[in-house]
Amino acid sequence: MTPPSSSSREVWSAVLGRLQLEVARHNFDTWLKDTVGLESRGEGFVVGVPSAFVAECLEKRMGPLVDQALKRQTGRDWKIRYEVVGQGPVAAPATALSVSAPSGRGRRPGREFKEPGAALNPRYTFDTFVVGKANRFAHAAAIAVAERPGSEYNPLFIHAGVGLGKTHLLHAIGHSVAEQGQRFLYASAEHFTNDFVTALRENRVEAFRDKYRQTDVLLIDDIQFIAGKEHSRESFFHTFNDLHTSGKQIVITSDSRPKSIPLLEERLSSRFEGGLTADINPPDLETRMAILGAKADQAGVHLKDDVVEMLARKFLRNVRELEGGLNKLLAMSQMGHRSIDLALAQQAVVDIQSDPVRVRTYHPTDIIGIVASYYGLTPEGLAASTRKQNVAHARQVAAYLLRQQTARSLADIGRLLGDRGHSTVLRAHAKIAALIDVNSDLRRQIGEICDALDRRAARSAS
Ligand code: ADP
Ligand code: MG
Repeated sequence: MTPPSSSSREVWSAVLGRLQLEVARHNFDTWLKDTVGLESRGEGFVVGVPSAFVAECLEKRMGPLVDQALKRQTGRDWKIRYEVVGQGPVAAPATALSVSAPSGRGRRPGREFKEPGAALNPRYTFDTFVVGKANRFAHAAAIAVAERPGSEYNPLFIHAGVGLGKTHLLHAIGHSVAEQGQRFLYASAEHFTNDFVTALRENRVEAFRDKYRQTDVLLIDDIQFIAGKEHSRESFFHTFNDLHTSGKQIVITSDSRPKSIPLLEERLSSRFEGGLTADINPPDLETRMAILGAKADQAGVHLKDDVVEMLARKFLRNVRELEGGLNKLLAMSQMGHRSIDLALAQQAVVDIQSDPVRVRTYHPTDIIGIVASYYGLTPEGLAASTRKQNVAHARQVAAYLLRQQTARSLADIGRLLGDRGHSTVLRAHAKIAALIDVNSDLRRQIGEICDALDRRAARSAS
């Protein structure tokens, strides 16, 4: 079927709904979130993107994945063309390059450091954060810190599994301090590390120091990324100590408690004593229902109670999964021009669960262990340097799943797979991503591996 050009926007929204379920969230947010369907004519489908950089990355890194998603959505092949239309709402295909700057996430050899506020997601505020038993303490601590930065809980250390609202709370603190006219700096630990490495290379360590020290509130996301990187860790300690000594607020998030990041704990332990550690657990049913209701409201949709409860019962591990379920349902309703009822919601759940690659949050060690044993190898065997076809295949599958299902950086994944470079991981991921839609045997393999991962996750949750 050929969608009339007026519906290109809807078709693309639905494609984004699919991709959101398949692509790691940071990738989705960086490359896909701000794209829009512009028109379809003949073989061609035109997608508006905010910058030439995004267009290039989508073509190079995600080409096959995006092609397949559009094909599955419409039932036919398209030639996708990306057109730069700048950021913000897009009314019509633009011909000229927009003057608005690219989002700044690109790895350009930057002179200037990223505008601090630029990284905050406008939707991640305290207003949109639903409070329940599992996150009440962390939420209260975040509010206290946002209201009186630097005075009570310093540092605040929030830890939780993937998709439970750490980044949301960190951004909410950023919004709130900015409203009070205070300076803040938000950076993922990975960004901090990259910044530091660039500064070293370009002899700009002083500028780097100044940047991170001239702030009232330092928000560092996913500190676990820093754990294995000695120089960056060192630099972080110094920054941390300087800020802390001068009474500036520091908030850190992590996927695990400070004690399980030994080197961090050791160096900072005396500092942590004056601070507060808060964790977030997976939300209970009632909170999951409240979150679904709130997200549906934000999307301008009313969901009946039976639909909310059914979805909340199905997606229980984290909020990200829950959102994935809701997005799928909204996309199905929009595409099929169907109103949302229990039957459609059940279909959405079945659709997601029969997808060979689902939104899940697995531990990297589990992924490596299960992929290895699925292909008759040990984890060490999987990482060994050999060109044997079966080992290489297993390793590519592992790279694919690690990238798809965890928030690890390419460099980390490369290390886990036997000290391989990040481009090797990228290539492996692209290869499997391209094959998965055309090769039913591979689809079955990955489905079976995901099932085994599910069973493992269910066992450790019970
Ligand atoms: P984390 O950083 O812990 O991996 P995020 O903060 O990215 O998780 O949260 C994942 C998604 O779930 C985000 O879209 C976020 O807005 C949403 N979310 C998480 N917790 C809540 C909550 N309590 N209320 C509303 N939305 C939430
Ligand atoms: Mg996060």
